[in-house]
Amino acid sequence: MSKLLEFVTGQQDALLRDLEQLVNMDTPTGSKQLVDQAIQVVVARFQELIGGRAQWIPQEKYGDQVKLQYGEGTGQILLVTHIDTVWPEGETAKRPFRKEGQRLYGPGIFDMKCGLLQGLYAMHAVISQSAPAKNIVLFINTDEEVGSPSSRRWIEEEAVKSDAVFVLEPALGASGKLKTSRKGVGRFALEIEGVSAHSGINHNEGVNALEELAHQILYLQGLTDYGKGSTVNVGIAAGGTAVNVVSGQARAELDLRIESMEEAERLSDLILNASPVLKHTKLNVRGGIVRPPMEQVMSRDLFASAQAIASELGFSLEETSTGGASDGNFTAALNIPTLDGLGAVGHGAHALDEYVELDSIALRCALLAHLIQQQVKPSN
Ligand SMILES: [Zn+2]
Repeated sequence: MSKLLEFVTGQQDALLRDLEQLVNMDTPTGSKQLVDQAIQVVVARFQELIGGRAQWIPQEKYGDQVKLQYGEGTGQILLVTHIDTVWPEGETAKRPFRKEGQRLYGPGIFDMKCGLLQGLYAMHAVISQSAPAKNIVLFINTDEEVGSPSSRRWIEEEAVKSDAVFVLEPALGASGKLKTSRKGVGRFALEIEGVSAHSGINHNEGVNALEELAHQILYLQGLTDYGKGSTVNVGIAAGGTAVNVVSGQARAELDLRIESMEEAERLSDLILNASPVLKHTKLNVRGGIVRPPMEQVMSRDLFASAQAIASELGFSLEETSTGGASDGNFTAALNIPTLDGLGAVGHGAHALDEYVELDSIALRCALLAHLIQQQVKPSN
């Protein structure tokens, strides 16, 4: 057994106590007060276990972000995690942390409170072995579930100082695949102006904005190209004021997913320059790419290291790509090697049956610790 695995196995009971405490605290993204309270608990554990520096990044709307740091030197390794969950206040009272057989249940346990603690304990394990030759930074995001509006710039600021980024989002599937590429995301809104008129008296003088919207929806959905991994989804559409009025206005919102920056640019261009089909309608499209794609090339070397470490630890590791985005999209887009899915093994992110596999915790924690150790060991 590797020393790091031995160490984290010895710490597992402590980790599980922390996990129970953290899962039983509601941390909906929208509640600054609750998120701030949970962050305090994590920082206190960090101080007890590791004793490094905690730097607060105050926020008005969302919980304060925190940067937990240990080490010296100019090099840096960044671990990215988030403490916010999609679950509302009161959820943990309804279904608190529980263990059933080899599975641990509770709101946000898989996405990603267990991963957060695995990161903390992996850091603890590495430091317990020797002084790192680089800074190790654990960044705790508080608004990931709404697209990281207040944290993005801080994550990017830390990423550009880093030699590698490890994202503690959950692994995929029963075998715990790592995520080596993620699609990018674009968001667009369309406003259509037609000409309203009485549908009985002067139908011919009106131009129905909903009819134009129908053309636009078919056009936009038609931009989907599964072969290139590009999808367009018009998820919201609305318009009109009354059944006997030729509708003067309509609107829609769409979600774009792409695998490469090339596709991001090509499709953004087509969407933003969509032109009206009906005469006398005005079409206004706004929006753009909100998360760039995480392209596989940015994960290749780190994934090879992870596979080698896993086989030493006695398990095999696979990679996968996903249509869902994470903070890894931001760091990879800055050309910083990024490996994602290094958190918990389990199932059911954002679902009621969300769980984590107990047997996987020490192994995944050790895998991460070895990856960090490889990066921060002195070169001589
Ligand atoms: Zn997550």
